[in-house]
This record gives sequence, structure tokens and C-alpha cells, in this order.
Amino acid sequence: MKKINLFSLVLLFTSSLLTAAQHQLNSPEGSLQLKMEVNNGIPSYSVNYNNKVLLLPSPLGLQTNVGDFTSDLTLADQFTQSSENVSYMLPNIKQSKVSKAYNEAVFSFLKNDKPAFDLIVRLSNNDVAFRYLVHPQGERKSCVVEQEATGFVLPEGSTSFLSPQMLPMTGFARTGPSYETPYTADDAMGKNGWGVGYIFPALFRVIDRGWVLISETGVDSRYCGSRLIGHENGRYSLGFPQEGENNGNGTVSPGIPLPGYTPWRTITVGDNLKPIVETTVAFDHVEPLYEASQKYEYTRGTWSWIIKMDGNTIFPVQKEYIDLSAAMGWETVLVDALWDTQIGRDKIEELAAYGKTKNVDLFLWYNSNGYWNDAPQGPHGLMDTPMARRKEMAWMKSIGIRGIKVDFFGGDKQVTMKLYEDILYDANDFGLLVVFHGCTLPRGWERMFPNYGSSEAVLASEMLHFSQERCNTEAFHASMHPFVRNTVGSMDFGGSVLNKFWNGNNTPGRGTKRLTSDVFQLAIAVLFQSPVQHFALAPNNLTDAPAWAINFMKAVPTTWDEIRYIDGYPGKYVVMARRKDKQWYLAAVNAQKETLTLKVSVDMFNAGEQVVVYSDDAQLNGSVKSININDAQQLELNIPSNGGVLITRLAE
Ligand code: CA
Repeated sequence: MKKINLFSLVLLFTSSLLTAAQHQLNSPEGSLQLKMEVNNGIPSYSVNYNNKVLLLPSPLGLQTNVGDFTSDLTLADQFTQSSENVSYMLPNIKQSKVSKAYNEAVFSFLKNDKPAFDLIVRLSNNDVAFRYLVHPQGERKSCVVEQEATGFVLPEGSTSFLSPQMLPMTGFARTGPSYETPYTADDAMGKNGWGVGYIFPALFRVIDRGWVLISETGVDSRYCGSRLIGHENGRYSLGFPQEGENNGNGTVSPGIPLPGYTPWRTITVGDNLKPIVETTVAFDHVEPLYEASQKYEYTRGTWSWIIKMDGNTIFPVQKEYIDLSAAMGWETVLVDALWDTQIGRDKIEELAAYGKTKNVDLFLWYNSNGYWNDAPQGPHGLMDTPMARRKEMAWMKSIGIRGIKVDFFGGDKQVTMKLYEDILYDANDFGLLVVFHGCTLPRGWERMFPNYGSSEAVLASEMLHFSQERCNTEAFHASMHPFVRNTVGSMDFGGSVLNKFWNGNNTPGRGTKRLTSDVFQLAIAVLFQSPVQHFALAPNNLTDAPAWAINFMKAVPTTWDEIRYIDGYPGKYVVMARRKDKQWYLAAVNAQKETLTLKVSVDMFNAGEQVVVYSDDAQLNGSVKSININDAQQLELNIPSNGGVLITRLAE
């Protein structure tokens, strides 16, 4: 670690001598620059990439109950700067080994000549991360952050790719907000969602300049989750949770000790979408909060609920799904809501024991709720207090349960962040992986919590079951998720369905109808990253789906070593590749009305190498063929609307 103390360049503007101070931090390669300034006591920052402005001067500061640190501030002349490197191994994100250089600067802001806060800024080549360190104020060693002034001002004419935040206590059984709203592509700025802003991550296209992804990371019980509030003139500001979340219980404003940190605000930029899709910024600047009690194995499995719904969480159906997982060579079955009353504890023990004979372990579903929603599905009241939770988890450990899925949280307040943290921390004592549904966006949790599995926080596969409109726009959303939701965290979509109709027996004309192809459904198993996956296959698929589709699903991994973005446009199409060990999977889907014809580089495969190509004809009938990679390592893809392409190396 190299530390240099720098006297910054203090630029004195002739018109406002002594009132404007400016510092600049550059990324290791130099193309990303952050400028920090204070004008007439008001702090701001701006972001340039390749000499183009991607964020205009944007507000900084915090309003707290121990002082207003948004105005009358001065920026210390001196700041510390260092060049650092972060490297870590993480099997459960898009890339298993990360090694990255970044430059860090600590800018100190004073109020009445006393330390107010430091802004810690880290710049890697395509990512900005910054957080506040608020200093003690006299005798005050704790504070409430009433509001952050932190904002993001996009250049005029930028378009947005945003998903609205839900109003509190809305949606199913008053379980919102649950991050289950659709993204809108290329929308004008100046709006504010459904009136209460947007969820993270937020993507912007700055016309003729590049792309900007805004999010946050490092959120645990020491702060709340935040959202983005839209204003006029390209300005977005950070917003805290809504008063009504969790039935009005819990505060909106986070409390921190002094000195105390806020979470990291992150901005990922690029000329194109590659740095956005491939970013690891959500994980680079957080640390594990505790040690893993064991080595966690991430798993693939099935779940009956997605096709057969609440009524089929019954013993014989779950047994059938254990057999399905066993036939697929997968490790788990997720026993969803209502097992407590429809199966019962004794029979769950029997089911778990049956699973063991087939090398299939169970995940069990729980309702998170104590006092914050009306969701009727049980089991209730077993995850909201440490007494009940630890007793339940001890039982689960005794019968060899692999993990839990906890549903229906409905809020981003600090008190709810503590519940997520408490569940994860306790579950580690009992060797349980944790998946969250009806929940918030994970914010660095893959690295912070060693037994964290995945989170829903997306308009997931269940919506395809509930709504034909969602089926009609399935390809649109599948082409969107790799550029937004899935860029910053594992996404438990629960998909890859091979039923043509969303009903228990795949009966034509009943329930909603799938419009996307079988190859499309296989492609999303690669496109959507989540180390724990419960796929939407049904037992009938063993006989009614194409053998090549079943064989592909048997082999597809859920943990990855490398990601390579190839081409795409959010909401239109996406082409990307993931590597597991030596095996590359190139996957693409097309949401546009017309067939997509595209020449792409396939240089992850060797010239002359034989590969397997899964593709669709114009009627979306899939087939598989072998081809040889040409000397130019290029391939023309033809993907019909709602279709997909997959390319893999021949199995060794
Ligand atoms: Ca859900």
C-alpha cells in the first residue's frame, strides 16, 4: 500500500476567490475522473469518463440531528490519496476471482472549522464508490441521519432504465415494497416512478457519451436501504425508506455511531455496457461480517410451487419433485409455503430422510412476518425472534435441511436490515443457506454473509404464472435483467420453465401461455446469475420436453468463474458468455419483434474447435447441431423474436 500526502491543486476562481476549492481523483488507468468541489459552502462532485461528462456537479452532504452538513462547509486543502488493490475469491458471484486496482482519496469537509465528515472515494477503472464518515460532534457520539443530500445529476437528454419503488403496504397481503416492479427502457428523465422514486440499481444512457449505473452496497443493520428519487433537470437524489413500510413500524432515518460510516454509493460507467454487466463494485469494498461455519455448497433444484402453487405443497407431490431433482442430478428441492399445515413436521422429517436416499436435500420456506404484513401462508412467527428462529434452525439441522427461503419482508428500514442480518447470522450457526423472497435488493451480501444464497427482488417467474401480460413481455424483461438487477447481486428468478402452459399438467389452454422458446428458457439459466437455483421444471418435462433440453439443464452450472459481455441493448436483446472451469456457455435471447441477425466474436472458443449450438427456427422450434468455429472466431447468430441461442464446448 502506497500512501501519498498531496497538497491538492486548489483552483482559485477569480470571480469567487477563496470560495471555490476543487480536488480531483483519477482512476488507475486515468480515464475515469471524479472532481470534488465546494462552492459557497455547498459540496458537490462530478464524474468524467474519457473526457466526457457523465455526471454533472451533483450534491453531497448529510442532514443529521447533530448538525446540518449540507451547507456552510469548507473542503480541507489537503487530502490523502493512495493506490490500493483489492483481491478476493468468491464462488457465488459472476466472477470467482477478483483482483482490481483502485485509487482512494479521503476528502475532509469542515463546518465552522471543525471536522464534519470525510468523504472516502474509491475509483477503479470503471467504478466509483464513495461513503461518508461522520465525525463526533463535541459530546455527541451517535446521530440520526435525517437525510442525505447525495444526488446524481445526469446530462440533459439522457434516458433512463428504471424500476419504480412500490408504495408501502401495497401488493399481495400488504407485503410491498418487494422490488417486483417492471423496468421501463429508454424513458425520459424528470419522472418519479409511481410517486415515490425508484429502486436500485438504476441505469442511464447518456446520449453519445456512455452509460451510468447507480446503486449502493454494504448495507447491513448499521443503516437502511435507500432508493432514488427523481426530480427535474436530470437530478436524482438518495431517498430513505418510506414512513409506511412495515406497517409504519421502525424509523425511516438510520442511526449511526460517531464516528460512523454510511453504505457505499456506487456509480459504474462505460462507453458501452460491458463494464456495467461485468462490474463487481457491489463486492469490492465490503468485507465478510463473520466466518462461515462450514464450506457452503451452492445448489440446483426444483420447486413444485411455481407450476402447481399453494395447494400442492403436499407430501406425494414433494416426493415426486425429489425424484425429479434426483433424475436431473440436482441437489435440492424447495418445499414452499404451507408445508407446516399441509405436510406437517413429522412428514417433513420423513421427506428429508427420503431425500437423503436420493442425494436430494430440502430447502424449507418461511414467512418472515411478525407484525408487518397479512400474508396468510405459514409457517408464521418462526423467523422474527431469535428464540423461535434458533429453535427452528436447530430442528432443521437435526434433520439435515440444506437451506431456508424466507419470504415477505416489505421494507428497507434499518430495523428490517437487522432482521435480514439476524436471520443470516443465526442460520450460519446451523449450517443453513438463506434465500430471500418478497425482499429487498441484496447489497454486497454475497461477500458480507458467507451463507447468503440469493434474493428474488425482481419481477420473477411467479409473475409469468400470474399474468399473461408478463408472459407477453418475458423476453423484454429477460433482456433487461442482465443490465440492471443482476449487475449488482444474485437474482433468484426461479425460472427455466419447459411447460408450454403454466398449469400442473401442462394442459393446453389452461393458465397463462409461454411465448418464449425452449432454447430461450435454457439460455436464461446462463443469463440469470444466482448460485442457488430452483428451476421451474416439472416432472412431466422428463417425458414431454426435448431430450436435449433436459440434458442441457442437467449439466448447466449455477456458479461461475468468469463473465464476458458480448452485445446487447437493455430490453431488446442480450448476448453474453459465462465460464465454469474450462466450459464456456454463450447465451443470447431476443425480445425484438424482428429476427435478430448478429455477427459476434466467439473467441472464447478455439479456431477449428467443434461446439454445440442450440438454436430456434422461425417457428421457435429448437434444435441442436455441432459446428466448427471458423478461423476468424466469429459467428453469425439468427435469433427469432422470443427465441434464444446457446453455444457450449463439446463435453470432454
Ligand atoms: Ca415474490
